[in-house]
Amino acid sequence: MTPNEFRQQGRHVVDWIAEYLETIRQRPVLPPVAPGELTAQLPTHGPESPEPMARILADFEEQIVPATTHWNHPRFHAWFANSGTPPAILAEALCAALNVNGMVWKSGPACTELEQVTLRWLAQWMGLPDSWFAMIHDTASTAGVHVLACARHRADPESRTRGNRPGYMVYCSELAHSFVDKAAMTVGFGLDAVRRVPVDAAFRLQPHALAGMIAADRARGLLPVCIVATVGTTGVASVDPVPEIAAISAREKMWLHVDAAYGGAAAVSERYRHHLAGAELADSFVVNPHKWLLTPSDLCAFYTRDPATLRAAFSVAPEFLRTAEHPAAVNMMDYSFQLGRRFRALKLWFVMRSYGRQGMAAVIESHCEMAAGFARRLLADGRFEVVAPVEFSLVCFRYRGSDGDNRALLEAINATGHAFLSHGAVDGRYALRMAIGNWQTTPEDVASVFDLIRELAPSLKQ
Ligand code: PLP
Repeated sequence: MTPNEFRQQGRHVVDWIAEYLETIRQRPVLPPVAPGELTAQLPTHGPESPEPMARILADFEEQIVPATTHWNHPRFHAWFANSGTPPAILAEALCAALNVNGMVWKSGPACTELEQVTLRWLAQWMGLPDSWFAMIHDTASTAGVHVLACARHRADPESRTRGNRPGYMVYCSELAHSFVDKAAMTVGFGLDAVRRVPVDAAFRLQPHALAGMIAADRARGLLPVCIVATVGTTGVASVDPVPEIAAISAREKMWLHVDAAYGGAAAVSERYRHHLAGAELADSFVVNPHKWLLTPSDLCAFYTRDPATLRAAFSVAPEFLRTAEHPAAVNMMDYSFQLGRRFRALKLWFVMRSYGRQGMAAVIESHCEMAAGFARRLLADGRFEVVAPVEFSLVCFRYRGSDGDNRALLEAINATGHAFLSHGAVDGRYALRMAIGNWQTTPEDVASVFDLIRELAPSLKQ
């Protein structure tokens, strides 16, 4: 592609994106496609000779977009809704242009340093210690693997050479995200090493049950090494009592990880900062700007108060990666199993500067207000129950009927293409989840989803 062709096609792409964002409400959130339908439309082999960009872009519009679930749609309310905001879209293009690989400081001075700077700003915005070591991972799941490796290393520095001793144990609430299980499998602790602690009526981990489980495991000769507390659980957005959990982890000399992948974002608003009480006591902490901080996938902000343990657990420097620069230079490869890394901080920097803390807080607050209003309308209708406290921008609710009725309601909502909601199990019963988190969502969008639910509910069998 010549520079002139690039300019021409680039303008076309920017126009396409602007139009897409402006008219996205006209699209069905969920594409009406069946598995394999797209594959059947595409050639079975890649092209032998170059194809013109105009044809590639036409196929993007005609084949790829219609088979896309529109996460950036204002009525995407499934899982945790998120945003690809315009400043970040521009930053992603620039990131690809620079094509930096930030494995060591020399391979990406700006990539390395902007990561520290943006994450320090973010810690300040959430009211957390800005002295913590910070790094960006793709996901909270990747961060979780590092967390368990740190917990193991702190308990047994020899594990780096010798591998696992039998009996390492990890504790989290029964509502903690499944990344804990996957991390335990990945680092070789095994699934049996994950103890799921019961929750109270407000879906919060019960500290006395946690303490009891740790004591029982120690009595059996097992090695409790890590506790994961969650601020904003995936199922119902509940907040574990972090101060009490931190007291237990300190007493037991265990690594405390606070998973605030979703809920931590709310702390950017002073109104919701109290949810992070005690998080400053954590050994490690994550928040996912790619969930609710207006930054497109993927970007997880990972913090630790103990970078020495992280470094000791992961640093390996073969000769070809040794660089001779100032000792103050941080080489991010020393703090992760990953060597190559994208310049993700650039998009966060663009977003943070474009919105400012107050702008971001205003978006978060409006999402929470819309969620509270949605819950009030459900309750006023009388045919629905809200099955968990609405602390953030997630509403978990049920139609007062059977699990089958609720499943049918969800399928009916999603089949319209107007909105996309997801489900979960709350107290063992099927519940619908309405997550509000997109930058373009308005009260009118949420009202229209409520009206749709109200219209569809009577057609359910009782
Ligand atoms: N923690 C919580 C509370 C989550 O809700 C999720 C995902 O939804 C995760 C962790 C995992 O996030 P990621 O997709 O970044 O691995």
